Amino acid sequence: MSKVFIHTVGCQMNVLDSEMVIADLKRHGYTVVDSPTDADCVLYNTCSVREHAEDKIYSALGKIRAAKESDPSKMIGVMGCMAQKDQETIFKRAPYVDMVVGPGQLHTIPELLQRIGRGEGRQLAVSLSRTEGSQATIARSHETFDPLRDPTMRPTPFQAYLRIQIGCDKFCTYCVVPNTRGPEQGRPPAQILSEARTLAEQGCREITLLGQTVNSYRYRDGDSTTDMSSLLEALHEVDGIDRIKFVTNYPKDMTERLLTTVRDLPKCSPYLHVPAQSGSDAVLKRMKRGYTIADYMEMFERIERILPEAAVSSDFIVGFCGETEEDFQKSVALIERCRFKNSFIFQYSVRPGTQASKRLEDDVPHDVKVRRNNELLAVQDAIAKEDNKKLVGSVVEVLVEGPSKKAAKADPDANVVQMVGRTPCDRIVVFDGNRRQAGQFMKIAIDDALVHTLIGRVQTVDVVSIDLARS
Ligand code: SF4
Repeated sequence: MSKVFIHTVGCQMNVLDSEMVIADLKRHGYTVVDSPTDADCVLYNTCSVREHAEDKIYSALGKIRAAKESDPSKMIGVMGCMAQKDQETIFKRAPYVDMVVGPGQLHTIPELLQRIGRGEGRQLAVSLSRTEGSQATIARSHETFDPLRDPTMRPTPFQAYLRIQIGCDKFCTYCVVPNTRGPEQGRPPAQILSEARTLAEQGCREITLLGQTVNSYRYRDGDSTTDMSSLLEALHEVDGIDRIKFVTNYPKDMTERLLTTVRDLPKCSPYLHVPAQSGSDAVLKRMKRGYTIADYMEMFERIERILPEAAVSSDFIVGFCGETEEDFQKSVALIERCRFKNSFIFQYSVRPGTQASKRLEDDVPHDVKVRRNNELLAVQDAIAKEDNKKLVGSVVEVLVEGPSKKAAKADPDANVVQMVGRTPCDRIVVFDGNRRQAGQFMKIAIDDALVHTLIGRVQTVDVVSIDLARS
């Protein structure tokens, strides 16, 4: 039986893609191993969003070279966004790689591995670029790959990602995704619902719907259109699924109707990740994000009005082309005004093939990017800690994910270990419990709060009034 090892970097889409590829390979007789040394086939699922993610993969490829040279039958494959973006370049930089597969061609992996095994040489399977045909032809070349699920590949058995959309048509000037993952396409609702039912049968209690701009989801079938709100309503009816989250959102599509739907459906988590990217209109214009800060604030105030209990998080890029100190201070001000639950902050790096790489100068020095990154993070972290402290004394409901990292190192026979769970608003809570609690919904009284973690204890007595929603 062939043995496969998979190394995954990047976003939740990649985690899900790896789960699908492994399920497919298992069906073709592969078993999964924990180390590239033990594997007959080593797969790297890659990301192109930042230079750093690509560097990590080229470095990992450098490390596997000696193993390939001493055992030429070991197959090395590169899949995902970097595969689609770099294509033949990967064979040039790492000539011992056997297979390069873009995210729209993952269904071909078992067949490609068979061809390599038969001695047919290197295999390249990538989708069409955005200029290589009609919109429909290009879309068809980026296939969704969601036929199979493998519970063992998930972060936990009772939480799963569910893709509802692939690709993106927003073309932000810094981003490779519209090229690597192709045109925006909503998956048919019937497929999504059937997959949600399968996940529930497998014991999954929480699903996170995935899309690059997930709240732009639309599926047209003749005269009828399913939008994000109607999809949430249908998923809400799936027995066994108790919590529904969705990421990542596009600010302009966070409509009144969608927010009202989230408010009215108890299974929908009031957690909204809505990247702002910058607090400056001038920078947003160069990024071609399609909104101004006034638009973003209008959306934010809509969330505050309809879903006052919601936790909102964001992404920011610092040091984008032409970002002045004044522009940067506007990002600081936006975080201070919105008090995001958390923000993912990145230093801009040029991505070949993007509009920014062709038209804009990467003119903010590295040390300035680092300083702005640290400064913005400090502001965000201080706010997160202050807001978490406000939860001390309240009781929150968590879905228990399992033992914490600290508990993983503890005595495996210990009765009491540190467990970790998540609130509907995606806050991480640790508490002393036992391993059997994994997968359960529990009420936890919060005793202390750090920047990214709440510390609590299992609520054992009835409380007269608990404010579970604001957690
Ligand atoms: S919305 Fe912009 S940043 Fe997000 S995937 Fe699409 S192009 Fe990239």
